[in-house]
Amino acid sequence: MASVPGLAGRILGEGPMTILIRDAIVLTVDKGFTIHDPGAVFVAEGKIVDIGPSADVLTRHPTAETVIDGKGKVVLPGFVSAHNHLGYTVFRGRSEDIGFSCVTGQYYPMGLVMSRDERRAIGSLTLAELLRGGVTTVAEMEEEADIFAPVVESMGGRALIGVMIHDTDVERMIKGEYVFDDALRTSQLAQATGFAEQWHGGADGRISAWMTANMTISSSPDLLKGLRAAADRLGLRLSIHLGWGQAEVDMVQATHGMHPFDYVERNGFLASDVVCAHCYHVGEEQVDRLAHAGAHVAHCPLMNSFRGTIAPALDYMEKGVGLGLGIDNYFSDNYDVVRAAIQAARIRAGHPEVMQASEALTLATMGSARALGIADKVGSLEAGKQADIQIVDMARFGLTPINDALRTLVYHGHGKDVDTVMVDGRILVRGGEMQTADEGALIAGAAGAAEAAWSRFAARYGGYVAR
Ligand SMILES: [Zn+2]
Repeated sequence: MASVPGLAGRILGEGPMTILIRDAIVLTVDKGFTIHDPGAVFVAEGKIVDIGPSADVLTRHPTAETVIDGKGKVVLPGFVSAHNHLGYTVFRGRSEDIGFSCVTGQYYPMGLVMSRDERRAIGSLTLAELLRGGVTTVAEMEEEADIFAPVVESMGGRALIGVMIHDTDVERMIKGEYVFDDALRTSQLAQATGFAEQWHGGADGRISAWMTANMTISSSPDLLKGLRAAADRLGLRLSIHLGWGQAEVDMVQATHGMHPFDYVERNGFLASDVVCAHCYHVGEEQVDRLAHAGAHVAHCPLMNSFRGTIAPALDYMEKGVGLGLGIDNYFSDNYDVVRAAIQAARIRAGHPEVMQASEALTLATMGSARALGIADKVGSLEAGKQADIQIVDMARFGLTPINDALRTLVYHGHGKDVDTVMVDGRILVRGGEMQTADEGALIAGAAGAAEAAWSRFAARYGGYVAR
């Protein structure tokens, strides 16, 4: 790990065996959306042992090795982000204004340029940013994502990690030609399955592997079938970007003679163990097919809004499609994602009361946990679940008066307002400061890595967008 400056020499400690958070406003996000005010949470050996009104919990558990005074603070489940590309923070400031040109003009070609050390430095910064902002689980899928497992292990988060693979010749795809490469497919499948065999269940159970394809346009039938076979053999979930534009429909129709939804269904990627990212370029038929298959959608409303698109989240919810929220690329404030889910739903519906704060917060926690298959462990604050918790200090600019804690937090909170974050009862953020990484060193490491990668990118492609 010495090649990540911010992590060098730091080892994740065991943390206190018992933690008592008392006299806080506790948003449990349980089935009845119970709020305890004042409430308390007692944590032992990484799990939530007791939760309820402060007076009741304090009678049963009057003290602990670490006691957190929750007055003026809101306690809620750590966010579960259902779709991430940690190393894509390299595109911050370079992709937001160029629409879909970033996909084949930046994302795929950068994969040929960026070194593993550079990707690790940039992704480590992103993981720290997300943890610091209350995101306790990320669903990472990216080229060479195997490099992030030791980072997650060291920094202390929870993650699904998949080596996101493709078998198209990228240099030809930049020119709009889709040619599949057998040797590339073999090596990519070996990397993805090798990683899964090594790391699934690692870091004391905080790391799960999943099998991830980038998109339909960059995946041959054999690639998708290979991922499906490996997922079945190892008992893993799968993910793919799907339903993201007319370009996808046109390419899959031209190359495979069918609609992308037929293509993924035929090759094992439309099923109850698949998380389909985006799914905004869909009609009623595709919504019904996702519902019928029991597939899950990682709804990324913040990223989608900047691309001028809005997914039919309310239709998905009405039809029973499992819906989680994903932050996607280069953003790091998940509170913005929660608000974007509300804004997108209200604009699409033309109605200012749909997607209430409680529903959006539920999508960002329990919804994503269900999509990722980990709702028995995380996503709500309930006795028996892992202690993945964020605590927000409300005595701050922008959050006063509290009035209604749920709504004030959802409409006005930011990742930078998060005071304390724990995963498995280990305190990773305290007083707004990362405890398991050096923020300054991570920033410097990522900045240097991005500068080096972009300078090689520009030399190879004659600018910041390959054409
Ligand atoms: Zn994505």
